[in-house]
Amino acid sequence: MKNAEAVWTIVDEKSPAFFDLSDRIWDMPEINYEEVRSSAEHLRLLEAEGFRTERTVAGIPTAIMGEAGEGGPVIAILGEYDALPGLSQQSGVAEPCPVIPGGHGHGCGHNLLGSGSMLAVAAVKDYLAANGLKGRVRYYGCPAEEGGSSKGFMVRASVFDDVDIAICWHPAAFTGVNNPVSLACSEMNFHFSGRASHAASTPHLGRSALDAVELMNVGVNFLREHMPITARIHYAIIDAGGSAPNVVQANATVRYLVRAKTLPELLALVARVKRVAEGAAWMTETTMRQEIISGDANLMGNEPLEDCMHAQLERLGPAIFSDEDKATARKFQATFSPEDIASSYARFHVKPKNDEPLCDLIVPLYAGDTSIVGSTDVGSVSWVVPTVQMRGATYAIGTPGHSWQLVAQGKLPAAHKGMAHAAKAMAATAVELFLNPALVEAAKADLQGRLDGNPFINPIPDDVMPPIPAQAHD
Ligand SMILES: [Zn+2]
Repeated sequence: MKNAEAVWTIVDEKSPAFFDLSDRIWDMPEINYEEVRSSAEHLRLLEAEGFRTERTVAGIPTAIMGEAGEGGPVIAILGEYDALPGLSQQSGVAEPCPVIPGGHGHGCGHNLLGSGSMLAVAAVKDYLAANGLKGRVRYYGCPAEEGGSSKGFMVRASVFDDVDIAICWHPAAFTGVNNPVSLACSEMNFHFSGRASHAASTPHLGRSALDAVELMNVGVNFLREHMPITARIHYAIIDAGGSAPNVVQANATVRYLVRAKTLPELLALVARVKRVAEGAAWMTETTMRQEIISGDANLMGNEPLEDCMHAQLERLGPAIFSDEDKATARKFQATFSPEDIASSYARFHVKPKNDEPLCDLIVPLYAGDTSIVGSTDVGSVSWVVPTVQMRGATYAIGTPGHSWQLVAQGKLPAAHKGMAHAAKAMAATAVELFLNPALVEAAKADLQGRLDGNPFINPIPDDVMPPIPAQAHD
């Protein structure tokens, strides 16, 4: 108890600088692998805090690392700072109102995610120093979580090989340790090439790549009936060939995102989707090229770590929100549908309350199956390092993911309180692990047990490179 309280106090003392960092990152939304200013801001604060830093981790210009302490074990807390396109929105305004029309916005709360994780790491650093404890604590600033799978590339580059435990969090409507399930996923382009022709005078000479894309989509839509119920397939036509209907389109591309509960299920389903694409190419006498872009493993659980983190949350109790925080959250709730709010409670297996706009509890451990939550690149880390992740309440219950309402709540006092709260829970978990080597060993044994007969296959093939834009290189 004393140890936890000591590190909570350090979090409180350090919070203001990290709230400022989070707000600055919110003000400069940068997307997938373009987080040049955001990662530089993180690096600056790491250096001001006295961390040994590393930049261009795994060859990715916007991936950074900060380390403090000596000897082992090595405990890493993971952060993110990427935004989403098209979600620009003014802070605190409960109606759609972009700062820049069409601009980016922090629609997943990663401004809080990175700053909160670094706050936890900074508090643990001071705690280790004050108590003369052995061990290293690291902050990993990981870019491009939104479809960029940077952590998967970092895993492939052996970045986490000497890390004993990984901890992280995500902003959410409710506070609790994550049920250890997310879907494995693979994102890929299918490029079709045919032959252009005049669509009226010589249609018989044309071979339409756009037809191939359409037939592939029809085929995959029939495939849905015969795939595991927890799998998901989404697609977007990113190149329809052109805008002239009187041309037989020679080139067209469709992007697929395939998700499944486990890595073996994912790889099998991707192979089936590829066969449908091959069939579409046969039917249209076009050629097809598959290009894998990114991929995440499903999140591997770790019972000793989940028990430990949940115990820290129980000691800490829920974040305390003021009446003013609640009044603001209610303004946002007025923009949600009743279904948005009901589905938020259902997803977290919490009994609905009508009058609570912000989370006032700790969700019980393993409250229910929450496997249909999408994917995260933390998944790939969790197969190579024992990993635990929590959700921390930072916004109104019912806030849709990736929405303008989520962006608008990212700088509010409630968001700061939720962020500091999550930092306390993560820091206390790390301290517990530094003080209790047997727990680190138990976490490693748990992961080994799960990997028995179930080896890790990185869904990112060796020849796929992260799509780093030219301006991100110095
Ligand atoms: Zn996110």
